[in-house]
Amino acid sequence: MSDSYSAWLEFKRFLGLDLDYLGTYTEIEIVVVNETPLRVGSGRGEGLGEADLPIVRGGDGKPFIPGSSLKGVFRSWLEVIHSPEETCRVGDSSHDCCSLKTELIYKLIKGIEKRFYKGFKLEADELKHIIDEINSRKVAERYRRCVGAEEIAKRFDSVVQSIAEGTQVLEIPTLIDKLKNVLVKEKLAPCIICRIFGNKALAAHIGISDAKPVNTDVKTFIRTRIAIERFTKTTLPGALFEYEYIPEGYKWKFKIIVWNIDLGDKGSDTSSKLRFLLENLASIGLFVGGMRSVGHGLLKLVIEESKAKVCKVENAVLKCEVRPIKEFLVPG
Ligand SMILES: [Zn+2]
Repeated sequence: MSDSYSAWLEFKRFLGLDLDYLGTYTEIEIVVVNETPLRVGSGRGEGLGEADLPIVRGGDGKPFIPGSSLKGVFRSWLEVIHSPEETCRVGDSSHDCCSLKTELIYKLIKGIEKRFYKGFKLEADELKHIIDEINSRKVAERYRRCVGAEEIAKRFDSVVQSIAEGTQVLEIPTLIDKLKNVLVKEKLAPCIICRIFGNKALAAHIGISDAKPVNTDVKTFIRTRIAIERFTKTTLPGALFEYEYIPEGYKWKFKIIVWNIDLGDKGSDTSSKLRFLLENLASIGLFVGGMRSVGHGLLKLVIEESKAKVCKVENAVLKCEVRPIKEFLVPG
């Protein structure tokens, strides 16, 4: 692999736009214990003899924790520890803005790569054509929920245009340096959380399976509560309701698959976020499911039973080794 080509791949990795080439693959096998009662609901119960609010169960009738719930909890935890200036928030206008920026950069990268047949360089004039091809204003129209989408599109065009100034040919190292500088300075790159969990224009670098009970025999209980009107704090008429829950102390196993984020790489910002997340799951724990206001759903990592299979692609072959999770819990 030539130096220019590796530098280009490195640049794409920095933007999270690197899933067209697999460099590392990690399979984290996690065991957690629910230290407080757990309730991941499936909506209103309808079956005879069912609680009003049953828990979610698989086709085999056994309770499980959906991977999508775990993913949502992991993502929103990373969101709350960052200031809204640094990262976007799912369900918020900022998420659409982050997606818009990602799509613009993706199109820019593709436009540049299309011209690599002439060698690893770019004629400065070509940038103008690439901007025309992208048609950023049109792209912005598809992200209506982003406040200031049009302004982002304009800013994108002008910073890309600025790279061409004062030069005729951009060699790869210069092109990467300049692009990196302006995209970071102008906050046009996808945020760090999207570079892990994805957004509307970016595939996720992480996949999370459902968590299944390690001890297959999970006994559930029903609790009766009184619904309280939120504002007046009075009991609602006919407000007794039943909910099903899993008592504390069960172990659950699930997998996190990670593409192109090397868990052992101390220099990678996305990798350090994932290690930080795991460390937090081990030391403090994270809340999953409903009834969190009464402390339900605290999951904690069981360190001795969790491990990571870390693989690197070398000459088109995956080389893997299994490491105890403990090695990845060190901060940094
Ligand atoms: Zn984002």
